[in-house]
Amino acid sequence: MNIILLGPPGAGKGTQSARLVEHHGMRQLSTGDMLRAAVKAQTPVGLKAKAVMDAGELVSDEIVSDLIDAELAAMDADTGAIFDGYPRTAVQADILDRLLDKHGRTLDYVIELEVDEDALVKRITGRFSCANCGALYHDTANPPAQEGVCDACGSTEFKRRPDDNEETVRTRMQEYRAKTAPILPGYEARGIVRRVDGMASIDEVTAAIDSIIG
Ligand code: ADP
Ligand code: AMP
Repeated sequence: MNIILLGPPGAGKGTQSARLVEHHGMRQLSTGDMLRAAVKAQTPVGLKAKAVMDAGELVSDEIVSDLIDAELAAMDADTGAIFDGYPRTAVQADILDRLLDKHGRTLDYVIELEVDEDALVKRITGRFSCANCGALYHDTANPPAQEGVCDACGSTEFKRRPDDNEETVRTRMQEYRAKTAPILPGYEARGIVRRVDGMASIDEVTAAIDSIIG
């Protein structure tokens, strides 16, 4: 099973990917996470990407596609892939088709998380994660069971993304509308798009995705 989770920033792609990894043994391929790791490690890719990410703009198609290619090359053929935050442009969508072919995979579904844009700013400005294991939380919608302690690993260190501020979020949403949303019709023509109400609770969204992938 190979799926794309598509939706604007804050739609819930990372949250649902973590559940797919846990429940279905799939692998999350998040270009955002890969780029943040590169920034942290100050690799050449990270040094190039940092300012672009901080501005909420898109990193080059070549950089992100090379990251995906390397991850697919390192994966077991029978482990399913969840593409989270990739592809984000028509060029990336074409490259992904070629990469899937190269690695002997086929795309089963493009699952679009439909969300109300006004809610996204609230979601993103309330987002934080565990500094140790990366578990995702939200100040009001999804706080840890015990305040200040990660449910998954017990760490008491948390972090927020530098690009999760209102101004950058607006740019990221414009980028989504202008460059990412236009890739949907191509997938629709292939009959593989499934829509999920991303405004439902986290558990309800998980149930809807589970019923699609079976
Ligand atoms: P994306 O990966 O699409 O940018 P995330 O999965 O990081 O989005 O979710 C953004 C924020 O919204 C996080 O703080 C997360 O806890 C919260 N969130 C995710 N899904 C829901 C939901 N269905 N209802 C309310 N809050 C949600
Ligand atoms: P995300 O974690 O998906 O919200 O991505 C964070 C940032 O990383 C984005 O705002 C972009 O700057 C960059 N990024 C992540 N994935 C891609 C991609 N597929 N194409 C271009 N830029 C990306």
